Amino acid sequence: MAHSRSAGRQRPIPFIRPNPPRLSTLTPELAAIEDSGIFSNYGPVNARFEDRVASTVFESKGDCVTVANATIGLMLAIKQAVGWKPRGRFALMPSFTFAATAHAALWCGLTPLLCDIDPETWLPDAAAEDALLKQYGSDIAVILPNATFGNCLDLDRYARLSDAYGIPLVIDAAASMGSLDANDKAFGIDSRFPLVFSLHATKAFATSEGGLIYCADRDLIATLRAMGNFGFGEPRCATMPGLNSKLSETTALLGLTKLKDFEAIAEHRDDLYERYRTLLPDFTFQRMTGNRTAHQFVPVLVPERMAGNVQQATAGLERCGIGSGRYFVPHIAQQPYFQQTCTAADLTVTDTIARRVIALPISDSMTVEDVGHVSDIFRQVCGPRPVSRRAGRSELATVEAGR
Ligand SMILES: *Cc1c(COP(=O)(O)O)cnc(C)c1O
Repeated sequence: MAHSRSAGRQRPIPFIRPNPPRLSTLTPELAAIEDSGIFSNYGPVNARFEDRVASTVFESKGDCVTVANATIGLMLAIKQAVGWKPRGRFALMPSFTFAATAHAALWCGLTPLLCDIDPETWLPDAAAEDALLKQYGSDIAVILPNATFGNCLDLDRYARLSDAYGIPLVIDAAASMGSLDANDKAFGIDSRFPLVFSLHATKAFATSEGGLIYCADRDLIATLRAMGNFGFGEPRCATMPGLNSKLSETTALLGLTKLKDFEAIAEHRDDLYERYRTLLPDFTFQRMTGNRTAHQFVPVLVPERMAGNVQQATAGLERCGIGSGRYFVPHIAQQPYFQQTCTAADLTVTDTIARRVIALPISDSMTVEDVGHVSDIFRQVCGPRPVSRRAGRSELATVEAGR
């Protein structure tokens, strides 16, 4: 009775519904791993997975190495980029990113230098980055942009910046596996700087825990591979910084299996996203810079009058059985640990977007009808006309009575 009539027919729609390949259907492949006696250490299944990603996704332009997760992949790539004794102390990154980006830099002994984002693409703001590079110069040890929500960064511009300032670059492309650039190529293809992708269960390319680093520079990937195996440049002998970032054969099997239907999954998710955009024309979405995005969820801005009061929309959706989330809220500069460890520049746009952003659900099993349902409810809980905070409650009650 608390729900509208259409909601009554609807199954609940969780915010994220992870869909990794079903291990229970891969018994022969699991038995083959057991028979091989090789369970990790860049084994044969892992090698097949890496080869297939390099050849099918990145058209054999370079190599990739798997990692246990993207966070540890970022740690490796940053460490390799800045060297054993970093020249500068800062890692230039947006505040509008996941905690992992800042943590990885901090584990490398660097101080995240947090910059603002572009109001439309939500990618790191070019003018803000330019200003900080001018101000801090060689005190910046690495440039660490995040390809926000799978959106494509202008990597040519970053290559020019890196060359102009002599500062290395690592790209946090955690949510980008499956994203296509403006030329319909995999985002990052041919990049001489490493891109770190996540294969976490909640990402579009869902396994369980896992990550992958791609780079056109094969030597760089070989170095990262050795770093990820305790820095063993020679048999059981550390010749460089190292840790253990290796992916198990079982997870590599999940990745290999995921590759089979991933094109269809990425297309389906992009279709659902486009449906949201069509059904919510008066809402603000991220401006996409590529031809396809590997959507993990659907971030959208609530109307300005609801800024700072997004929980009203969240609660309204929840009462209709629809999950939602808030990314990246709180952003880095708003989190207590990072407030003590990072340096923040002006973050006006980040603050504004963080006050208004809500993420709507997308999943492999959702249909365009589901998107219609979520959009209807979302539009209702956001209200067709200005509502005062006090009136908000009764307005919602009306919505849910099936007005
Ligand atoms: C998911 C995500 C990560 C972390 O990936 P893990 O594989 O879970 O370590 C890092 N950065 C961004 C931007 C992400 O979205």
